[in-house]
Amino acid sequence: MKALRVPPVYKCIGLCDADLLDNGTRHPNLVLMKIAGFLFDNNVLFELILDPKANLDRYEHVFMSRVFTFTNLPEFYTKAIGTPDEAKFHIGGTGFYANDTSIRQYRKKREEDFFRLDHDAYLNSFVNHRGGHKEKGIDMARQMPYYHLYDAYVEKRIKAGFKRDKYKDYHKYSIGFLTRGCVRHCPFCINKLENQVCQYSKLEWFLDNERDEKGKLVRPYIYLWDDNFLAADRTIWEPLLQELIATKRPFQFRQGLDERMLAQSPDGELMAQMLSQSKYHGDFIFAFDNWKDRELIERALKIWKHYNPKKGTKFYLFCGFKLTEHSHNKFYKDVWELFQRIKVLMSYGCVGYVMRHEDYHKYEISNLYVQIARWCNQQQFYKKMSFWEFVYRNQSYWEEHSKGITDRPHLKTFEEFEEDLNNGYYGERKDQVKMCLPLQSVMRTLDKFPEHREELLEMFNYKMENLVNPKLWE
Ligand code: SF4
Repeated sequence: MKALRVPPVYKCIGLCDADLLDNGTRHPNLVLMKIAGFLFDNNVLFELILDPKANLDRYEHVFMSRVFTFTNLPEFYTKAIGTPDEAKFHIGGTGFYANDTSIRQYRKKREEDFFRLDHDAYLNSFVNHRGGHKEKGIDMARQMPYYHLYDAYVEKRIKAGFKRDKYKDYHKYSIGFLTRGCVRHCPFCINKLENQVCQYSKLEWFLDNERDEKGKLVRPYIYLWDDNFLAADRTIWEPLLQELIATKRPFQFRQGLDERMLAQSPDGELMAQMLSQSKYHGDFIFAFDNWKDRELIERALKIWKHYNPKKGTKFYLFCGFKLTEHSHNKFYKDVWELFQRIKVLMSYGCVGYVMRHEDYHKYEISNLYVQIARWCNQQQFYKKMSFWEFVYRNQSYWEEHSKGITDRPHLKTFEEFEEDLNNGYYGERKDQVKMCLPLQSVMRTLDKFPEHREELLEMFNYKMENLVNPKLWE
């Protein structure tokens, strides 16, 4: 498949990644890449729209996808509403319904969204070149993505001074779903109504084999968007995992794997063993979303670490769900559970990755989540410093580089910091030093929950080197 550029004089089909135009993502949109692949198969000209104010005269149709509900839609769309240009739009994606609170509405919109492209009259006027039962229209499972769709975007960013490697997700990976669906019904997840995991695409339907002039694979890696691969029946996941391993290409499940399955499935040991023998790309990613799963997670961790004692293992840590401005108890519980999960992970030598639900914004000290994520999600900090040390280092760095104060230690304990505070070192007067935002958020949290002060300080001082305990899995 070659890169395609449409000269400006020609009309074409516009493909719009609304999240990209609103700077909301670093992942290519797979649906758009598949629509592009389908148009490419049918020799229809298309391009990715890179300007939120683009002139719609150039486009006969615009396929617009939005994944995140917080993404602002581009100006060319909002201006087209109520005009004849509105009819050009074919829109879809989870960003149009993911936060719908009525289950009935949610179910209806999700089903419509899932099958929208199947019923699209424009796409159904072209032939499906990818086999299967469908003669006309796009078969989403079988359609090979068009992997050059984001080339112009990447080139634009490189010209703007960014490194190509920053955009490797757009040009180094074959991307697809081997399975779809889940069985867990997590209330915050778009898969909350799914009841099973089914096979979806065959690997060969999205595995890219393009080679450069030296014969090297242009896209040497594979990333998979499967929702819950390990919860599929063994007759599904085992041959698929074998097939992935047989490609000898490094692969990665981007949404994480469900670690609980290692403890819950009779095949848990086999899963851990096969994954240990695979060429996994980057850290293994699991999810530890609920504190109530801790026993299961620990049992699974013992199996996992037995087979993978040295492999980098990361856990997504979901938080911030259903917070409101004054839901103080909920906030405290959420932060407490987040740190307890981190403590378990540290004791098993694993790293966390904080994933905030957009509700976190609503709480009055929402910035605490931002700071916890800044610490936890950067392994060089998480592995070497406690949260408190990270926060204090932010302050001392700022004092050194913005205020030119060079005669103070980079790190202090909370007690030492408090001594400075009581001595009037910090404050708003000219002869005092202001606190940086991370420190302000910590102090606001401590002031808000005086009854939990000791507990908060204990959690803020969790440190991997003090907590890691190989006896837990050896
Ligand atoms: S386990 Fe993961 S994919 Fe399944 S419902 Fe929960 S968050 Fe969603």
